[in-house]
Amino acid sequence: MNKRVSVESYGHHGVDVVVMSKNKGKHRKNCLCFNGCMHFKPDTKNNCPIAKALFKNCVKYHVTTPVWECPNYAVDTE
Ligand code: SF4
Repeated sequence: MNKRVSVESYGHHGVDVVVMSKNKGKHRKNCLCFNGCMHFKPDTKNNCPIAKALFKNCVKYHVTTPVWECPNYAVDTE
């Protein structure tokens, strides 16, 4: 069994959540969507359907879900 790392609680969008202390505030840094994916267009009708579904789930359950792996990641090379 893995050794447990330290966690902390804080208010996030009005809800108390628990996060591994070492990962707090690093969601975007570790998310493929925020790493220049051409499909990532938050707050628009053309946003990636996977990102939209993940965000909807995050809002519903008050979780934070960075995308570590994705088959559709692509960058605009023009
Ligand atoms: S294709 Fe993958 S990496 Fe790109 S925005 Fe959608 S979920 Fe994120």
